[in-house]
Amino acid sequence: MRLKAVPVRKNICACGMRTESINKGGVHMSCWREQHVLRMPATTIGINTKDEWNAFYSKIKEETDWGAGSFAPALCSYAENGPMIDYILVDSAPVEGGGFKMKARLLWYNEEEEYLPIFQKEFPGFTLEQMDEVHYCEYKWYDATEAPYCY
Ligand SMILES: [Zn+2]
Repeated sequence: MRLKAVPVRKNICACGMRTESINKGGVHMSCWREQHVLRMPATTIGINTKDEWNAFYSKIKEETDWGAGSFAPALCSYAENGPMIDYILVDSAPVEGGGFKMKARLLWYNEEEEYLPIFQKEFPGFTLEQMDEVHYCEYKWYDATEAPYCY
C-alpha cells in the first residue's frame, strides 16, 4: 500500500518516483504535470491552412509565457481536429504520478459567458457562438512524453 502524502525523502521526487536525478526544488527531470485548459481548434478563429497556422504559431510562441493565464499552442498532438489553441487555467508540476489523465467536456453556458471576455481580449470579435467550440480539458501526463490528445 502506498500512502498518499509523500514524505520528503532523499532520492524520492514529489511525484513519488525514486530517482537519483532530483533538482534543488525536489523534483526530478520531466516529472508528472497536469494542465487544465480551455481548448479550441485553430479553425475556430479562421486558421485553416498550414501557412496560416505557421504564421500564428511563430507569433504566439514569442508572446506566450506558457503558464496559467496565457494563450498557447496546445501541448498535445494535433490528431483529428488539427492544431489546437489553449487558454491555460492550471499548470501544475509536480503532481502525484500513477497514470495519464484525459478529460474533456463542453462548457456550461455560464462558463461561456464568464470566459468570453478573455477570448475577446486576445481575439477581437470572438463571439458567444464561437465559445461553443471551446472545451474544458483536464489532462495529466509524464512531461518527457507527448501530452495525451483530448478535446
Ligand atoms: Zn517526479
